[in-house]
Amino acid sequence: MNWSGRSLAGGCFAVIAALGAWSGQGHAQQAYPTRNITMIVPFAAGGPTDVIARIVTGHMAQTLGQTIIIENVVGAGGTTASARAARATPDGYTLITGHMGTHAASVPLYPNLAYHPEKSFEPVALLAGTPILILARKDFPAKDLKEFIAYVKANESKVNAAHAGVGSVSHVSCQLLESILKIKPVSVPFNGTGPAMNALVAGQVDYMCDQIVNAVPQINGGTIKAYAVATPERNPSLPDVPTTKEAGLPEFQAQAWNAIFAPKGTPKEIIEKVNAAAAKALNDENVKKRLLELGSVIPAPADRTPEALGTLVKSEVAKWTPVLKPAN
Ligand code: ASP
Repeated sequence: MNWSGRSLAGGCFAVIAALGAWSGQGHAQQAYPTRNITMIVPFAAGGPTDVIARIVTGHMAQTLGQTIIIENVVGAGGTTASARAARATPDGYTLITGHMGTHAASVPLYPNLAYHPEKSFEPVALLAGTPILILARKDFPAKDLKEFIAYVKANESKVNAAHAGVGSVSHVSCQLLESILKIKPVSVPFNGTGPAMNALVAGQVDYMCDQIVNAVPQINGGTIKAYAVATPERNPSLPDVPTTKEAGLPEFQAQAWNAIFAPKGTPKEIIEKVNAAAAKALNDENVKKRLLELGSVIPAPADRTPEALGTLVKSEVAKWTPVLKPAN
């Protein structure tokens, strides 16, 4: 399976939606959830994981009848937050929106990883596929992908690449690109591609490989350049951006994904309830519209079950381990 915005200013916490817990629910209060749910986002506010989590949980909060609080816990390519989520009480009140990095690629990259995506978590729901784009600051001296390749090869020691920490999607995707191009640029880590994108827009870093969600508003606003999307087809949200195949680098194919996980041992009824709320959110016209406008790929119903996510995680760990082990 090929699953491989800007946000509210500043603060680490944001209340997504507060709903009257009492509205018409009477004694159903006893059933999960009876209080606020914390959704850990393992990267800074304003990045793709944060934006997707906020869009989807905003709707899920209505279904579940409780506030979902987004808590951005940053560091170590999302693995700090994931370790914390893995250790949380498995009662459905602490969840995490992880992704291809935190719940697959981190395994070969962190020999002492404090959790294992399969053994420490219950898969809950796949939220979105996110094609990867090759992006650069708007005055980067290359007008298309061919020129970009020539330039970074000729100036390898001078160019730098922004990313969201070792094992993040932006890090792993650009590592793939750089191994294809056989270059080793200077690497500039951030706590998420929200802040990395700010640095790209400000012209402080040269290029980045990022999940599309972060980039569409910037590309359309002309504040950064997009050389190619690393999927077989163009993305409807960016009809003018060529695919890597069209632009002359068909070997570079990359699509990431974001999904909700719960600590291992979370009761099945709770997993099912959260999964159903996520599935309902993905069926909502407004949620769909917002995700599609940002270039996400909405999972087909068959891919939305906890079991399908478990299978995806297994296959992604198996896929990334041999690719990233040598780099490690
Ligand atoms: N794009 C991720 C975010 O900040 C970080 C990454 O994995 O690159 O949400």
